[in-house]
Amino acid sequence: MSSEDRRAELAARLAKVRARIVAACEEAGRSRQEITLIAVTKTFPASDVAALARLGVRDVGENRDQEAALKAVAVAASGVDVRWHFVGQLQSNKCRSVATYADMVHSVDRLSLVTALDKAAARRGRPLDVLVQACLDPDDGPKRGGLPVPELPSLAAEVAARDGLRLVGVMAVAPLGADPAPAYRRLAEASGRLRETYPEAAVVSAGMTGDFEIAIRHGATHLRIGSALLGGRPPLG
Ligand SMILES: *Cc1c(COP(=O)(O)O)cnc(C)c1O
Repeated sequence: MSSEDRRAELAARLAKVRARIVAACEEAGRSRQEITLIAVTKTFPASDVAALARLGVRDVGENRDQEAALKAVAVAASGVDVRWHFVGQLQSNKCRSVATYADMVHSVDRLSLVTALDKAAARRGRPLDVLVQACLDPDDGPKRGGLPVPELPSLAAEVAARDGLRLVGVMAVAPLGADPAPAYRRLAEASGRLRETYPEAAVVSAGMTGDFEIAIRHGATHLRIGSALLGGRPPLG
């Protein structure tokens, strides 16, 4: 596909997603201004990130450090400026690299990551925005990261206590093969409780291609959308 055809495809997909977001906001009685669209570009090239940025997408998500680090360099070299969100499961030994390009890390679910990210943020000399990740799938166990909702406040307190980190909210992935609505309701409740102590921690990162309208209905502020914007990925991408 030529780059012009790809640009046109991305523009058409983006227009559709934006229209669905507007419709879901209207139905939920929410303002479109409350919603940030994050384009999850994993497995897709830096040229797609640049094309989306030129179409007005300012927030980009990745789930693997190695891929993200290379892409961030390539995107910066192409002269476009985006905010990078790290949304995947993270290991402590990757935190130093992640902090070199990420503006927000969504997937903080244990103390060792808090410590490593704080150190990495100090090294880069600029605070890092952090979301604590909840596991909404207690029956199946935390296969895709996150910690049980009752344990969020203590981890949030650890984040809030670090000079290098800013606690900005919560994140979750919907349970596989289950109705996302009750899960997103629990996330919204957890977010409300957290904001009683940390009023500025207002981000609710929830909603992907398959369920973002439901996430909007239940208070999501940041949508992580991949395939609806970029097309299908190879399996396990
Ligand atoms: C890949 C990914 C997404 C986007 O998934 P789509 O279904 O393609 O929209 C969102 N969040 C996380 C954590 C991901 O890894």
